[in-house]
Amino acid sequence: MEFKQVMLAAKKSIALVAHDNKKKDLVSWCQKHKADLVKHTLYATGTTGMIIEKEVGLVVNKLISGPLGGDQQVGALITEGDVNMLIFFWDPFEPLPHDPDVKALLRIAAVWNIPIATNQMSADFMVASPLFNSTSERSIPDYASYLAKRSVEIAG
Ligand code: PGA
Repeated sequence: MEFKQVMLAAKKSIALVAHDNKKKDLVSWCQKHKADLVKHTLYATGTTGMIIEKEVGLVVNKLISGPLGGDQQVGALITEGDVNMLIFFWDPFEPLPHDPDVKALLRIAAVWNIPIATNQMSADFMVASPLFNSTSERSIPDYASYLAKRSVEIAG
C-alpha cells in the first residue's frame, strides 16, 4: 500500500458513539468538554446523538441507531473523508448483536488513520492534545496509486 499525506484540519468532524452501558459516561465526558466540542462538527449514532443533544445541548448530526447500521454509516463517512476523528465508548463486557459492525468500524478507522479514543481516559488525552484544535498531517492510503497498481495486476 502506498500512502499520501493530507492535512487534518483544525476544525474536526468528530463521530461520537457509545454503547448503552457507556452512554452516561459519554454524556459526562461531553459535558466536561463542551467548550472544546462546540468548535467542531459532531456526528453520532442515533441514540447517542439524541441523548447528547438533550442532555448536553450540543448540535449533533444524527445517523441511524448503531444496531440498525449507524456504526457502518460512521465507517462510510470515515472512508469518504467526512469524519476524521472517532470517540467510541464501547462496552468490553457485553456481547452485542452488531459486534461485527463494531469490529468493522474500528478497522476502517485504522485504515484511514484517524485519531480514535475507545475510553474516557484516551478521549481526555485527545482533547488535551494541542492537535485537537490545530492542523496536523495525516498519512492515508493513496487510492489513485492503489487503483493504478490494481489495474496492472488484474490485466496480468
Ligand atoms: P446508538 O448506537 O447510539 O444508536 O445506541 C450505538 C451503538 O450501539 O453502536
